[in-house]
Formats: sequence, C-alpha cells, structure tokens
Amino acid sequence: MAREYPRGTVDAAPSPLGDDVLAALDFAGLVVDVTAAARAEHGRDWWPVSLLDVAAGRVPAWPGAVVIPRDEADIEAALSVAARFCIPVTAQGGRSSVVGGAQPSPGAIALDLTGLDEIGPVDSTSGLVDVGAGVFGPDLEAALAPLGLTVGHFPQSYKFSTVGGWLASRGAGQYSNRYGTAADLVRGLRVTLANGRSMSVGARSPRASLGPDLTQLFVGSEGTLGIITRATLLARERPLYEERRAYHVSNFLEGLEVCRRILRRGASPAVLRLYDELEAARHFDLTHPVLLVLDEGDETLTRATMSVVSAETSSLDLLDVALVERWLAHRNDVSSLAELWGRGVVVDTIEVAAPWSELATLCETILGGLRALTGTVMASVHQSHAYGDGACLYFTFAGVGDDPLAYYRAAWDRVMPLAMARGAMSHHHGVGRNRARFVREALGASYSILEAIKGELDPLGILNPGVLGLGGDPW
Ligand SMILES: Cc1cc2nc3c(=O)[nH]c(=O)nc-3n(C[C@H](O)[C@H](O)[C@H](O)COP(=O)(O)OP(=O)(O)OC[C@H]3O[C@@H](n4cnc5c(N)ncnc54)[C@H](O)[C@@H]3O)c2cc1C
Repeated sequence: MAREYPRGTVDAAPSPLGDDVLAALDFAGLVVDVTAAARAEHGRDWWPVSLLDVAAGRVPAWPGAVVIPRDEADIEAALSVAARFCIPVTAQGGRSSVVGGAQPSPGAIALDLTGLDEIGPVDSTSGLVDVGAGVFGPDLEAALAPLGLTVGHFPQSYKFSTVGGWLASRGAGQYSNRYGTAADLVRGLRVTLANGRSMSVGARSPRASLGPDLTQLFVGSEGTLGIITRATLLARERPLYEERRAYHVSNFLEGLEVCRRILRRGASPAVLRLYDELEAARHFDLTHPVLLVLDEGDETLTRATMSVVSAETSSLDLLDVALVERWLAHRNDVSSLAELWGRGVVVDTIEVAAPWSELATLCETILGGLRALTGTVMASVHQSHAYGDGACLYFTFAGVGDDPLAYYRAAWDRVMPLAMARGAMSHHHGVGRNRARFVREALGASYSILEAIKGELDPLGILNPGVLGLGGDPW
C-alpha cells in the first residue's frame, strides 16, 4: 500500500481542536501538523475496516492534529496538554496494525513516534541494545550488522513497523521459534504515562525477582497504558551457519503431528512453517501441503536441531530446497492485497495459538465455520509459529458481498467464539479495535484487573480509547 494518502480523493474535515489546544501545543514547542494531508495519512492503519475506507477514498478517522515528538520531553509535553484538555491520544509507529490499534479516535492527537529513532548504546559483550521506540526494523538490523549482532525480530511488516509497535502489540517475527517473540526480546523500557511522567521499568539484567514484571505490563498494552519511548532489547550473535529443508506432506494434520514431535523433543528451528494445500498451491504451485524448515545460528546447535528434524520427518518425501528460497524471497510481499481490497474483495487473517491437543479440532471448526459463511470464496490455513506446548494457526480468508463490512464483521463473529471455546484468542496481531468486542469474555473475571490498572494509570481515559476494549465503545 502506498505510504501516502492518495491526493485529491478526500474531502478534508476541519480539525475539531480549538485554538486554545493548538496554542498550548505550540507553546510547548512541539512539532504539530494540522494539514489535511498529514491528518488523512495518520487517520488509518492496516485494519481491513480502515482499508475499505481507503479503497473508497475516505479517511477512516480524522485525527485533530499530528504531533511529532523528537524526544521524551516532547512526549511528556504532548501528554500534559492532552490531559489538560482531555483529548484522546493514539500512539502511532508504522501504523501497520491489522486490528485498528493505530487508528485514532476522531479528533484525537495522533502521536507519530517515528522521530524517536536513536539506536544505541550497544553492549556487545552481553548482547543488549538500547533503541528508540520509533526505529524501523531494517534500520535496527543495519546498525547491528557491523557489530555481528541481530535482534532477530522479522515480522512480515518488518520494513514498515517499529520497535514500539512490536512491543505494544506483543508481536512475533517469522524467526521467533529461534529468537523469541517481542515479549521475550525485551529487558526494560522507558515509558511516559498519561500524566506526562516518564520512568524506567525492568532492568538490564537477565531477570529479577522483584514482584510482578512491570515491563510486561506495557508489552501488549497497545498504547492504552503509556507511551513506550525506548527499549532495551536482546541482540544475538548473527548466525554464521544455516540449513534448509522442504517436505511433501500428504495432509495438514499429519504435518502438524510432525511439527509437534519436533518441538516436543526440544528442537526449535527458527522457521517451521506448514502450509495446507490451498496455500501451498498459492505460494508454491504445489498440489499438496508443504513443510518448510530453516534453522540458523551456531553450527553445532543448528546441526543438532536439524538432525531431530530429519529423524521426525523420515516418513516424508524431501522436496526441492529452493522452495525455502522462494518463501524467503516473497515472504514480505503484500502488493496483491491493496489490489484485492480495491476490487471490493475482503481479505483478512486470523491467527490463534492453542495447545497441540486442540489444533486439529480448531483447524476443522474454524475452516468449516468460514467456508459455511455466505460470501466466503476462500479459507486456508498455515502453522506459523511453534512452541513446546502448542502452535499458532494462521487462517486466511477472502469473501465478497453487497456489504463488505458486514461480511468482514460476520467472519470474525463466526470465528472468535469457535476459537475461544477451545481457549484460543490470538497470537501476535493484538486486540486493537477489532477484537475489542471479544476481549472481556476471553479474559473473564481477570479483565477487571486490566480495567483497574487502566483507571490508575490513565484516569481520564485519554490513551487510545476503545482499543483493548478499554474506555470506549468497542467497534
Ligand atoms: C502485511 C502485514 C504483515 C504483518 N505481519 C506481522 C507479523 O509477521 N508479526 C506481527 O507480530 N505482526 C504483523 N503485522 C501486524 C503489525 O505490523 C504489528 O502489530 C507491528 O508490531 C505494529 O508495529 P507498528 O510500528 O506499525 O505499530 P502501529 O501499527 O503504529 O501501532 C500498533 C499498536 O501499538 C501502539 N503503539 C505503537 N507504538 C507505540 C509506542 N511507542 N508506545 C505505546 N504504544 C504504541 C499503537 O497505539 C497501536 O495500538 C503485520 C501487519 C501487516 C500490515
């Protein structure tokens, strides 16, 4: 999708922010952009509901102003003004949220954090890097490569998402089996609270026994509890050795069982992806499911991991390993999506994690549920991230209808209860606005803890209202 809003397609709505608010932002020395172009661009993310509007030339939610902080002091000032006038604030990194997390409330301050782009210092001895929340994936890796280090977080949105967004969404990269998810990669954070006070949480040490982990309170908080300004992340040695394999699998469930056995033996190859026949046809021109494996790192450890893979796949036929190269070359290509949305085809993905013992049933019920829905033209699945006790099933569906929004909503309304009935809710896309209507039920009585924390940290409810189901009507 183009990074800039199409020119000439939108009727600019005037900013609802009063002169007093704009004067206060100006007086605080902040960089503020109230042009229609900037507000339109910051009025959407990658949530399909947002994309429907964009495809129709509409702005999903006009923010009142875009504020672009240069440092923590600017964020403190912006939040102080927002608190004084009780204006909602939506933290924005790359705005690649697919669940509406970065879509502002109408009239809100869109807080564009991409100016927080400092990288370092780096502790190469320990493997730790301090990094600004607004740093994009390629810039972080480019800074670490000369030092022989990598963070190893490679979401499909790697090029257009930021460190702050990875952490705030509790995301997972494509190599997370080896390097861990965003939640595993962080040691400590700098955060600014709704009242404009900044503080450090966590530490640089590998662990501490100092009460509940306050770093993790902000990991996954989706801009509702505080603004992450900096993070201390793990930086691993860059891999010097790599092995790849591709296998023919006769059916998806058999492939899942192979994955389970590999993980249960303690082997955790960086990439272990199993595609059903529809996705194997779409991505690799195959007529049967395919299992792709890639591991990297220390040669001795990688060889050990891959020998477990070989043992557990002994009943499968090897395929041309070039399939892995094909996956690597195309894994971040999302160019076809905008075209489909432009034609009125609704395309989305639903990712859920569950124990191995639940996956076969989940697969059957969710695919069945989607395919039975009026308007669905395609529903498929792959296994994307695997753990000792379970894995992530990543469903892709496409549908058409006179009212695409109604179809989209119906698809989620169909799938989420089926998933939640088996204890599955999400894996790495977060809650945002889209899953907000399900989160209370998913968390049960413990949702009251989240509400109490929100009430304490953000009593005026100005931080990203509606997201996580907190402080606003869920979509
Ligand atoms: C094509 C595509 C592929 C994707 N693939 C993956 C994938 O493989 N893995 C994955 O995990 N996700 C994936 N995503 C989802 C998305 O990219 C991730 O959630 C990403 O981590 C968001 O980062 P961002 O910088 O774009 O954050 P944004 O979209 O700007 O924000 C996401 C949420 O975090 C909050 N936020 C952002 N920055 C901060 C901050 N500094 N402090 C507090 N809150 C903040 C926002 O308010 C919002 O609620 C994909 C998205 C797309 C469009």
